[in-house]
Amino acid sequence: MREEEPAAGARRYIGVDIGGTNIRAGVVDDGGRILGEARRPALAEAGLRAAVGRAIEAAEEALENSGLTVAAVAGLGAGVPGAHRSSEGITIYSPNFADSRGVPVLPPIRDVFGLPSFMLNDVAVQTLGEHRFGAGQGYAHMVMITLGTGIGGGAIIDGELRVGYTEGFAEVGHMTIDPDGPFCECGNQGCWEALAARDAIVRRAVTRIQHGRQTAIAEMVDYRLGSITPALIGRSADQGDEVAIEVMEETGYYLGIGIANLIQLYNPQALVIGGGIAQAGRQLFEPITRTVRARAHMVPASTCRIVPAQLGDDAGIIGGAVLAAQELSRQQREETVEAPTRDEQTQPVETRPGMASEEEPAS
Ligand SMILES: [Zn+2]
Repeated sequence: MREEEPAAGARRYIGVDIGGTNIRAGVVDDGGRILGEARRPALAEAGLRAAVGRAIEAAEEALENSGLTVAAVAGLGAGVPGAHRSSEGITIYSPNFADSRGVPVLPPIRDVFGLPSFMLNDVAVQTLGEHRFGAGQGYAHMVMITLGTGIGGGAIIDGELRVGYTEGFAEVGHMTIDPDGPFCECGNQGCWEALAARDAIVRRAVTRIQHGRQTAIAEMVDYRLGSITPALIGRSADQGDEVAIEVMEETGYYLGIGIANLIQLYNPQALVIGGGIAQAGRQLFEPITRTVRARAHMVPASTCRIVPAQLGDDAGIIGGAVLAAQELSRQQREETVEAPTRDEQTQPVETRPGMASEEEPAS
């Protein structure tokens, strides 16, 4: 039995990341290390209920790959795109999945593993991961945005993740940046993500090609303009392609406006940018930084570091583990308050510095 407990008091959690394309599960220890992982395709068109079934399979396989049994795991945390009633473990609506309305996510997971299980919006979970073990480490005030098909947001304020009244905090992608801008799928006009997420970036390149501009981008996709991706534009910009540089400039400008707004709103020490598009690096960060410096004054740009995320695709499963650790720790604190005399001699494990703590783990 001791063989499964190498470090006294060490805790493991299962992190589950249900994305629109891939599902990942990982067994994560309280130092943020992934001990075993597994993945499945999301098959979003088959619906969220089926995706939850595949997430359970992935979690079982991740356990197997870690060489641990479920008895060695303290809890499970899951990130799911969309809007949820997390305390009930139910998804209200997830735009990525067919048939997502009112789908129970946590109840089937609890049935299989018998573990305390928790869920939140995927970006909120990634924010927890980056805050505890990634680019946001050591900052009590941090905002994270993820750039992909949309723009998601998460906010750590005074060291705590905030989710708001209907868990809509922070839907930063749908703040209006240009009142006359392009229409957004949400029904509004000029939303941040309609100006700076994946489709907007690709559209900028396609429009220029259609206007006869010469660019290596068109040759790279053999003039199949539907195959253009932000990553490709980023690479072309790095190689000095004029059109690609313009596209990144314009995108960085709109990203910078939104980020300057977020800095005025949240006064964060760090603004972490995640998601595939953030990999475009210098070509994107330069116009972002320039725009933020030009626009953020009352809360000056200099008070906030704008940094790329560090955990990459692992942010979801590591963040899931952080969510489980923090919720278990919260539950334990509440129980301790309710019954102050009962647990005098059974010192709870969670009180040691670790994943749920703001302090650095004891090493
Ligand atoms: Zn919108």
